[in-house]
Formats: sequence, C-alpha cells, structure tokens
Amino acid sequence: MFKLNRKNGVAYYTIPSFEATGLVKHGFSTREGGVSGGCYSSMNLRFNCDDSHENVLENYKIMANTFGMDYEKIVLSKQVHEDNIHTVTNCDAGNGIMFENKFKSADGLITDIKGIPLVTLYADCVPVFFLDKNIGVAALSHSGWRGTVKRIAEKTVEKMKKDYGSKPENILAAIGPSIQLCHFEVGDDVAEIFIKEFGDKTVLKYGERYHVSMQKAIFMQLTETGIPEENIDDCGICTYCNSELLFSHRKTNGKRGNLGAFIELI
Ligand SMILES: [Zn+2]
Repeated sequence: MFKLNRKNGVAYYTIPSFEATGLVKHGFSTREGGVSGGCYSSMNLRFNCDDSHENVLENYKIMANTFGMDYEKIVLSKQVHEDNIHTVTNCDAGNGIMFENKFKSADGLITDIKGIPLVTLYADCVPVFFLDKNIGVAALSHSGWRGTVKRIAEKTVEKMKKDYGSKPENILAAIGPSIQLCHFEVGDDVAEIFIKEFGDKTVLKYGERYHVSMQKAIFMQLTETGIPEENIDDCGICTYCNSELLFSHRKTNGKRGNLGAFIELI
C-alpha cells in the first residue's frame, strides 16, 4: 500500500517498505505542486512538449527539493518501450536535466552508486521500483504493455542477480500508480499476446472488449524470479480513475504531462 504525502503543497506517494530500510530517498509524483498550466497542470515532468523547458526544469527542482535530492544529479531514462536496462554510473549524473539525454534506449535504470537520483516517467504505463536491501542496489523500470510483454521487470531482477549478486529474498519491489484492469481496454491482438505470455488470469472480457492487467503480469514475473510475495507492494492505484491527481494518457486522449518515479541510494 503506497502512502500519499503532502509537503509544501506538493503531493507524492512513498512506499512504506522502502522507507523502512533507511537506504533510499524515493517517491512517485502526482499532478499537485508544480508550476505548469493547462493540460500540464501542474507538476509536469515531461520535456519536449508544449510546456516550456523552464517550467519542467522548475518542476524537477521542486520534486528534488521535496525528496531531498540534488536535481543536478538526476539521471533521466530514455523510454522507447524496449527492455534495455542502463547501468547508471557517476558520468551519467545530470543526463536529460543538465545536458541533452544521451541514452538511445533505456526503459530501465539501475545503480549501486549512492547520491544519484534515477527518474523514469509515466502517464498510464507501469512504474516498477526495486531495492536490494542487503547490498544496496536500486532500480526502476518503465513497463508499458510492450515492456510488460518483453518482461522488463523480470529482466531487471535477473540483472540485479547477475551483475550485483542480489538474492531474490532480499529484493523489495513495488508496482506504482498506472492504468489498471478497470480501464485498460485493449484490442483482441494484445489480449491474445497476454493470454499466451501470462495466462488468462491477466485478461478479462468486459462486454465485447478485453481488458488487461499489466500489474498482474508484472507481479507474476516478479514472483517467478523468486522474490517472495510479501516483498512486493502492488499499490492498485488507477491513473485513469484518479485523473484529477494523476496524469492519464487514455483519459485525456494524450493531452497530459508526465508523472515521475524517483529513487536514490543514500
Ligand atoms: Zn481505472
């Protein structure tokens, strides 16, 4: 269960199990507390849209300040609905914030370096947070339906095991606010892919149309890697159902900003 916090007019979620470790600064932004207007109102973290660069940069500063992070060291993902996971090093600090985003394909970010905030962006796709509480490894993955089918969450855990020696029982995972089964209507082709990959428990027929639970498919991937169920926090919050507080691409026909997942080892 994620916790909704409000500080100086900024609303954001935190994950109690992550908070309890004392190893990370982290959170998930909402629409509240930023400087952007119109359909980007107000905490838009999406560059390269009709919102001004200055507004978006100011929003990053506000979020970094809220979490006690250094905004100049933020590392932004490059989300292209693939399954590449970039290992973040010191020379990446500021990527996409202080200088042009130099990544070509990085829907996942992972690091064991302290003091570098990792950030991935959302407006219906699924944010997945990871923390190895024994070795101190943090990761984020952007899992839209394509990334979910490509098993980016599972691949992140496999990378934690291979590159850092993580043991699944020491990994905490959290599935953040995103479009849920109630509103994620898909075509027959996508439904068929999910049934084939994850079984019919991830798909439900509402009248004539199929709905998919990406969260259930991700939960399955995580447990298949050996992470105990009690280590996984699936928040169950639907972006479409809560579009006053959260940006939803579907609800707004694409007229929206981006929410951000933030994590930094301390
Ligand atoms: Zn919904």
